[in-house]
Amino acid sequence: MTSILVFVEHVRGTPRRASLETLGAATATGLAPIALVTGPDAANTAAALSAAGAKKLVVVTGADKYSPDGTAADIAAAVTAHGAKAFLAAATSTGKDLLGRVAGLLDSAPLADCTAFSFAGGTFTLQRPILAGKAIATVQSKSAVLCATLRPNTFAVASGSGAAEVSTVATKGGKVVVIGVAAKGDAKLDVKEAPVVVSGGRGLREAAGFKIVEDLAAAFGNAAVGASRAVVDSGWRPHGEQVGQTGKTVAPQLYIAVGISGAIQHLAGMRTSKVIVAINKDAAAPIFKVADYGIVGDAFEILPALTAAVKAVKASN
Ligand SMILES: Cc1cc2nc3c(=O)[nH]c(=O)nc-3n(C[C@H](O)[C@H](O)[C@H](O)COP(=O)(O)OP(=O)(O)OC[C@H]3O[C@@H](n4cnc5c(N)ncnc54)[C@H](O)[C@@H]3O)c2cc1C
Repeated sequence: MTSILVFVEHVRGTPRRASLETLGAATATGLAPIALVTGPDAANTAAALSAAGAKKLVVVTGADKYSPDGTAADIAAAVTAHGAKAFLAAATSTGKDLLGRVAGLLDSAPLADCTAFSFAGGTFTLQRPILAGKAIATVQSKSAVLCATLRPNTFAVASGSGAAEVSTVATKGGKVVVIGVAAKGDAKLDVKEAPVVVSGGRGLREAAGFKIVEDLAAAFGNAAVGASRAVVDSGWRPHGEQVGQTGKTVAPQLYIAVGISGAIQHLAGMRTSKVIVAINKDAAAPIFKVADYGIVGDAFEILPALTAAVKAVKASN
């Protein structure tokens, strides 16, 4: 049966949600998804990946530290060994790191950050936002093996049954090895993966103005704080929170833009969010053109009321 090889990222044996979504997109085609995992605790992902639709699991052994070129070589070898017709990864930092390398090894054209993925009549069809998100390109690949990354928060996680058949293969090793990663000191959700993102802009006046954004995000419980470039450039927020063309691309269930004008470069990073709420005191702000719900008014009056309302709903559930 035609198969799709999906690279799965995991944290100490727990697969990342973005990878499970990618596996879900592969499963939805009706083809056979093969998950490839590497690094310490890779084998511990087996149950979770079987439950998310994987029919086979390739565990790469001997790769205790992440090697971009080594992992790409392991993926390309597994694609060839299993005769897979496609390689998929989530469009995360690691997925981006691997896509070009794997595509190079397989002589394939890489398709990054896709938002739709299907298979019919022997051909894969994908969609990708282009021109800073202003248009959607529908693309097909003539390469022997399709290589693509899929945007997080865009595809559903599948539910599988049975246990995936597990095989192990020794890593080929690479020339570059990441010897350490400095983890953030907090356990905050990343804007790319959070189901709710509350983003703030220059309308919050100063760094301390973000307190009302943080309070609303905390009230949701599953929300990350995002930011426009203007406030990141001003040093109010870290770059890791920046949403937009030169920041992160997000597609949460709910995106709340607070005091953000809606410049094209900001919209490029959030316009595929499922529901967009804009809060801005200027009724003519461009953000309202992409918003599903708009509130014209002062963020410093609206956000505390919204936070109280969210807390009240949570308390009553
Ligand atoms: C090459 C390039 C790349 C870029 N990349 C990015 C990017 O990745 N991400 C990004 O965000 N930008 C990016 N920008 C910058 C972008 O063009 C805008 O300058 C930026 O997004 C504006 O940020 P802002 O909306 O916070 O500020 P502003 O445009 O100043 O808007 C502030 C908004 O707050 C509103 N406001 C003021 N007070 C209140 C209040 N009390 N209550 C409610 N609303 C209020 C105002 O009406 C206004 O609409 C890029 C620009 C360039 C040239």
